[in-house]
Amino acid sequence: MRYHELIFFAVHRLLGTGTAQAWRTLLAAEDQSPGTLFRSRDAALAAVWERLRTATPFYREWLPPGPLLDGSGRLRPDVWAAAPVTDRRDIRTHFDDMVAFPSADARRAWRERRALPAGWTVQKSGGSTGQPVEYLQDRTWQAWNRAAALWCDKLSGAWPCREKRLKIWGGTQEIRGVKVPLTTRLSSWLQRGIILPSFRMDEATMRGHIETINRRTDAPTLEGYVSTLYTLARFARGAGLSVRPLQRVISSAGTLHAPMKELMEAVYGGPVFDRYGSRDGGATANQCELRRGLHVCEPTLYVEVVDKKGRQVPDGSEGDILLTQLHNHGMPLFRYRIGDRGVMDPEPCPCGRPHRVLKKLLGRVTERICTPDGRILDSLYFVHLLGVVLNSGWLDRFQVVQDKQDEVRIALVPREGSSPGERESGLRAVIAELEESLGPSVRLDARLVGDIPPSPSGKHLYVVSSL
Ligand SMILES: [Zn+2]
Repeated sequence: MRYHELIFFAVHRLLGTGTAQAWRTLLAAEDQSPGTLFRSRDAALAAVWERLRTATPFYREWLPPGPLLDGSGRLRPDVWAAAPVTDRRDIRTHFDDMVAFPSADARRAWRERRALPAGWTVQKSGGSTGQPVEYLQDRTWQAWNRAAALWCDKLSGAWPCREKRLKIWGGTQEIRGVKVPLTTRLSSWLQRGIILPSFRMDEATMRGHIETINRRTDAPTLEGYVSTLYTLARFARGAGLSVRPLQRVISSAGTLHAPMKELMEAVYGGPVFDRYGSRDGGATANQCELRRGLHVCEPTLYVEVVDKKGRQVPDGSEGDILLTQLHNHGMPLFRYRIGDRGVMDPEPCPCGRPHRVLKKLLGRVTERICTPDGRILDSLYFVHLLGVVLNSGWLDRFQVVQDKQDEVRIALVPREGSSPGERESGLRAVIAELEESLGPSVRLDARLVGDIPPSPSGKHLYVVSSL
């Protein structure tokens, strides 16, 4: 059934969104040599650099004079490294000065009445801790990012629009009556998603979701946030419900730790593909059929792994991930510290695609607990300890929160039907174990609760640090 695909691209061609062209570029890039792929990426970076230097007060001040490319058209690392690393704070503080408006009038219209140039949208991100940050995205970026998401689907084996897909989804845009542009609505209809709302994952909802998955045998793919997919898998396992085997599961918006992946594959009966993306950065990387690491979508984003000072670390070493958007002409994220840690694989993927591979994605910086005496506990530790080691079946889900350096709070939701005795001894075991690993510099407040509300984006976060 290819007609959805044909209509999808025909509509985008008709509307002049640029999506079809971006999609063709992404497909062609898979067969390019690394030299060709990286030369065109570097040419796009040079164009971003020039535009920012000439059209924005912020980058005019901070970007060193070029030229950015050497004689063979490749990035000059010394010039690039002299450019500033940016973060959420910069965007909050210097917002207006970081935008390349198409004209002085457009800049004035934004300043005076927040009027956006035609086709631009405001994107909000990062509601889990602190204030959300706003970004501007122009039409070109929306097209490239739409194509990048399709490319990630294709890497997972789900060719865009050709088959139906179950999506456990709970973004505010999807279900809170926020005005969604016609193109987006049309696109998602043509992409044939069957939406299972993820805002309230209570027992009745989860039973309903599993029934829908089992009934909709016309949808071979299940997609969702890692935390939601994992929660549902644990529920199915605990309640003894079987799920029909799926061809594939696409897991996004969080770190896919090994114990989570194992349980998900056992319950859903198909391979889990890890996807890396965010509202602010867009579709960034995805596992290919070999599922070794995550291929970076090189034609849309420049991904760097750097140390605290913004210097690139050698491939194979862990560092902070920086993103530079290549096609958001209005307000590209530039060397933007997105808040994730990762490791770039020094080896190319044996599948033959020239794109670099993120070998490992470690927990978000906000998904780690750091104690005053220097201990660092990753969300993996808690997921493994509480989800596997100490969970004899009494615990449904949990959340660890650190708002102050010397205090860690943990909320535990017991499974319905567990006995008071099980809960009591379970809680005691959790406290004993965590007091030991957190150490004496932290006060631990652990308690049983009835429910844990999801974050504004609909994700359940296992570990939240707002330090
Ligand atoms: Zn590969």
